[in-house]
Amino acid sequence: MKADPHLWGRGDRRRITSAKFPPAVLALVELRDGPGCVECSRLGVAPPQDEPLEVDHKQPLARGGDNRWENLQILCRWHNRAKCAGTLAALERQGKRPPWAP
Ligand SMILES: [Zn+2]
Repeated sequence: MKADPHLWGRGDRRRITSAKFPPAVLALVELRDGPGCVECSRLGVAPPQDEPLEVDHKQPLARGGDNRWENLQILCRWHNRAKCAGTLAALERQGKRPPWAP
């Protein structure tokens, strides 16, 4: 029986690279959020073609988050790095935007 992507990663807090997430799991995330970086979409901009997209944990693994699809979102590298330095809400308050956002 094929593993249900809805159940995949539940309770699993191992750190894996973006490329290791099963395509069926990432498809669920994309179905929910649309393609590309969710934060860039929210700002109404698109990252440059060469900006890598990364799998981000909304609730970080270090703070009890797991690998299930509900906890995942796609961010561009800029947003992922910026988030590491704080939170996305803090970025918003500080008015920090990626270089490709006007
Ligand atoms: Zn972005």
